[in-house]
Amino acid sequence: MNRPLADPRPRIPFAYRTDEREAIQQMARDFAMREVLPVANELDPKHGLIPDSLRTKMADLGFFGVLIPEEHGGLGLGVFEYALITEELARAWMSVASIITRSGVASALDPTQRAEILPRAARGEWLGAFAMSEPGAGSDIASIRTRADKVEGGWVINGQKMWCTFADQSDGIIVVARTEPYDPENRHKGVRRFIAYKNRGEFPKGCTGTAVRKIGYHGWHTFELSFDDCFVPDDALLGHEQDPKSPDQGFKRVATGMLTPRVHTAARSIGLARGALEDSIKYVQEREQFGHSIGDFQATRFKIAKMATEIETCRALMYEVAADIDGGEASDMRAAMVKYAAAEMSERVTSEALQIHGGAGYTTDFPIERYWRDARLTKIFEGTSEIMQRLVSDRLLPPTPFR
Ligand SMILES: Cc1cc2nc3c(=O)[nH]c(=O)nc-3n(C[C@H](O)[C@H](O)[C@H](O)COP(=O)(O)OP(=O)(O)OC[C@H]3O[C@@H](n4cnc5c(N)ncnc54)[C@H](O)[C@@H]3O)c2cc1C
Repeated sequence: MNRPLADPRPRIPFAYRTDEREAIQQMARDFAMREVLPVANELDPKHGLIPDSLRTKMADLGFFGVLIPEEHGGLGLGVFEYALITEELARAWMSVASIITRSGVASALDPTQRAEILPRAARGEWLGAFAMSEPGAGSDIASIRTRADKVEGGWVINGQKMWCTFADQSDGIIVVARTEPYDPENRHKGVRRFIAYKNRGEFPKGCTGTAVRKIGYHGWHTFELSFDDCFVPDDALLGHEQDPKSPDQGFKRVATGMLTPRVHTAARSIGLARGALEDSIKYVQEREQFGHSIGDFQATRFKIAKMATEIETCRALMYEVAADIDGGEASDMRAAMVKYAAAEMSERVTSEALQIHGGAGYTTDFPIERYWRDARLTKIFEGTSEIMQRLVSDRLLPPTPFR
């Protein structure tokens, strides 16, 4: 007697399962497959933007307010639920799973601005961008050179930023800049964050942008930004109210704010890999060679087994790390581990899925090549795989000058 086939889509493990979580996962899954996947398959090959109509539907379901407290109009859920939703959206289109983070930019604002902007962010009416990386400062964020100089009533920002995703369509950009000259002996000193408010479809006054020609992560644009005497008022300096005397708190806040983004990136990686697995399971049963479906060949079956096992392994760690963050037991080492493991896994699995599809995988007629291109990025942004390994090894070994 044949046993029924297993579903490659995740079921929340018993220890974490609640009716609410199952309902959230199902809702995100239905939405992703019905509303997101067809749009992604149509728009990604022509580098189209995520349509406003799709963003409105996402806002109606509360996707922009998952982590925003209920008193500010959000759903007030945890990182666990955030990861569940992200995996489902990324299974359809990574860029859509990414755009939900843009409301979170408002959480970095000072309390007065937060109170005003968070409810709008929860409704998707205020979305932000983040300008930290520079042409000469990527992994080494303490080496940024963009300057913010004090003037009457505010600050003037000058410098080059690189890779600012969503700079054009956002309502505000958090710009990481130095308020004191670069000091090689104390590189974190004077690294601060500023909010530059702007109109959608424009850059802040005193800022120009050039779109980067990227190979994936379509649906929105990523920019190189040039700040030339860009004025922001005094209250644009973030964290000032909490501790005006601590000039390196901007750096600390950037560094400590990376835990949830790393789980989010793990969820994006897992979603992409799952999309590749689901599509491969379907394809190997349809495609015939040598008089058999290619799914009859053990070489193919073992590939499917390996892909599914790798995905499950990373997802199990992601659930654990997310639950620990929600439970107040966050570990930067384990957050780095899951980001690293999931990103590497995602590239391997999506590449194997492309191989399983043969020549068809190398066309834009199947979404496999998109999963593969997007998975490739997860090893680079939110901290490269090498930087994740550095974070982990620095917690397990004594420091060395050759890091
Ligand atoms: C599509 C896209 C969107 C992005 N969006 C944003 C955004 O919205 N905002 C933003 O601020 N940034 C964004 N980024 C930037 C991203 O975070 C950086 O690309 C990333 O941090 C790596 O920096 P880098 O590209 O300068 O590479 P580099 O830091 O120059 O690294 C190059 C290589 O050297 C390795 N390396 C560097 N240092 C070490 C070390 N100490 N030990 C071992 N290996 C090392 C790296 O791992 C990598 O393999 C985006 C990037 C991309 C590609």
